Amino acid sequence: MTDLTSPVTGLKGIGKETAGHLEALGIETIADLLWTFPHRHEDFRLKDLAQTPHNERVTVECKVEREPTILFLGRNKSRLQVTVLAGRHLVKVVFFNQGYLKQKLLPGAIITVTGKWDRGRQVINGTSVTFGPKTEQVDFEPVYSLKGLIPQKRFRKYMRQALDDMGAEIPDAIPLHIQEAYKLAPIADGLEGIHFPLDAGHAKQARRRFAYEELLFFQLRIQALRKIRKDSEHGTIIQYDLQKLRAFIASLPYELTAAQKRVVNEICKDLKEPHRMNRLLQGDVGSGKTVVAAICLYGAVTAGFQGALMAPTEILAEQHAENLTEWFEPFGVRVALLSGSTKTKERRLLLEELANGSIDILIGTHALIQPDVIFSKLGFVITDEQHRFGVEQRRILRDKGDNPDVLFMTATPIPRTLAITAFGEMDVSIIDEMPAGRKQIETHWMKKEQFGSVLSKLEMELAAGRQAYAICPLIEESDKLDVQNAVEIYEQLATYFSGRYHVGLMHGRLTADEKDAVMRAFSEGAIDVLVSTTVVEVGVNVPNATFMLVYDAERFGLAQLHQLRGRVGRGEHQSYCVLLADPKSDEGKERMQSMTETNDGFRLAEKDLELRGPGDFFGRKQSGLPDFKVADLVHDYRILETARKDAIEMLETDAFWQHDDYQALRTMLEQSGVLQGERFD
Ligand code: ADP
Ligand code: MG
Repeated sequence: MTDLTSPVTGLKGIGKETAGHLEALGIETIADLLWTFPHRHEDFRLKDLAQTPHNERVTVECKVEREPTILFLGRNKSRLQVTVLAGRHLVKVVFFNQGYLKQKLLPGAIITVTGKWDRGRQVINGTSVTFGPKTEQVDFEPVYSLKGLIPQKRFRKYMRQALDDMGAEIPDAIPLHIQEAYKLAPIADGLEGIHFPLDAGHAKQARRRFAYEELLFFQLRIQALRKIRKDSEHGTIIQYDLQKLRAFIASLPYELTAAQKRVVNEICKDLKEPHRMNRLLQGDVGSGKTVVAAICLYGAVTAGFQGALMAPTEILAEQHAENLTEWFEPFGVRVALLSGSTKTKERRLLLEELANGSIDILIGTHALIQPDVIFSKLGFVITDEQHRFGVEQRRILRDKGDNPDVLFMTATPIPRTLAITAFGEMDVSIIDEMPAGRKQIETHWMKKEQFGSVLSKLEMELAAGRQAYAICPLIEESDKLDVQNAVEIYEQLATYFSGRYHVGLMHGRLTADEKDAVMRAFSEGAIDVLVSTTVVEVGVNVPNATFMLVYDAERFGLAQLHQLRGRVGRGEHQSYCVLLADPKSDEGKERMQSMTETNDGFRLAEKDLELRGPGDFFGRKQSGLPDFKVADLVHDYRILETARKDAIEMLETDAFWQHDDYQALRTMLEQSGVLQGERFD
């Protein structure tokens, strides 16, 4: 008897070779086969050419007007062209390497042609042709990604056979009451609809079912992880001293925003719990995450623990260290800084004091994860700009304590759909408010030919005593070109401002010491214009800088441009951001436009997602986003929310853990290893 786990080799016509090809496609069992979904559907419905946009696929019924002409292009290659009348349109159809059609395409014959419509040239690039008027049978046919290994037709045959063999035997993982509530197709009809749809509506309905199924499975896995973590007591109870915390907050030079107070409460509440904190703190650039981090670290210190704060760059780590040292000075908290440029002797002493507990808070770069960095009682770990670190680096730091509480901070506003997918197993705190009194940054998009007027505006700011950044894009493919580019811009500006203003240069090739010296000179006002690659992107704080000039801005994503813009607008003066860009694509133009229209990082993030899709959102680095087969994080956000809510609720009910209705889902969870306590963070 066939069941879902039977090998596909049991199907008729699958020999050794085909089995090998299927395996290469990741298909070994009947279930693998049935859950291989088409990536698109060929639409064979007749269309009117007048209504068909350029480059769209069409099927038309037409009459051959003239005898075809054929052009031989060398070995087995040919181009056949035939003039046909489709409705009222006299157009050409072209077929490549199908010379045998010449005999069949007789003038006056009625044919049905499918292909891509080249509207400008009035040509259909034909992919298939049937002779005679369109038959009624297929309107709509799935197309699978088979890497050319197996012909589509043959693949569909296997699919048909597998479906027929399984009949009504396919277990349905989605409980009946849920199917009914959401009007989801039951499994048999769903598979039928996705592989052999009667029409577009049937396919769409089937797709909806599998999108829900896929997102429900995914959410069940991450929500189960979250629940297991929260129910477990293998964490650290950090019983902080509320009085001391209050005194510290009162000593700060400003009142916390309501959003900062809220997230401090959320984090502190979590610190006291016996489970391990795994929390993401999201807040736009300049929203004031550092002080929140400081308050919570202090909480850990008042409870007798050590804290660690890891930042992606030395500059940032130093700035954090400076801030925290100053804030904590009156409270007797010892802060230390460890980075790659810490001198050997100083480092040895520091590690000693860390191990014997006299250092309370250690701040640093990834130098913190070196094996000889040993804490005496690490209870709370914060990672700033978490996406700059790999999973492994974050894990090593965490393992330096005994299940310490963990907080990740990010200034990249993440659209909700991505956040609940990539970080669904975490708790999330959001600072959605800026400190009062901030002036809105004025953003302008300028063409490169307008550079002259940009320079005069820049000069006005400098004359008023302000400072500026000039950012050149990182050339990812080449470190060398990248530096060269920055050097050129630096030389240009240095010549232009020669004798009037100081121009500085910063790029990835400088040593840590050199970078530090440049950054220090900029923050002390000894440099007026800082030319830099994106190394200044994160976190750096120079309140007197009011002018952000971005060269070739079209080469940045929205999230990154917004980050860069956040370097200015940090002080009392009006700030400006000028994007120098001549984007070629509409998408690029839309990105520049969006930047001028809003300062809201979350809105820009949503826009970025819409324009560039989920894959590009997080950039090249591993994103934590799974490859969904059907679900689409941009368009299926309602289904995603529903699946998430359902997963959370299900896991809280006894029915889920006991009732037969949920057997298939429980099995799925067991097989994914989640219930054995395996984790994937
Ligand atoms: P980010 O969230 O980007 O890390 P920072 O923590 O660097 O932001 O804060 C940006 C600036 O805002 C800093 O100069 C900080 O001192 C200031 N700041 C933070 N919170 C407040 C507040 N509640 N009121 C006024 N200024 C604040
Ligand atoms: Mg910051």
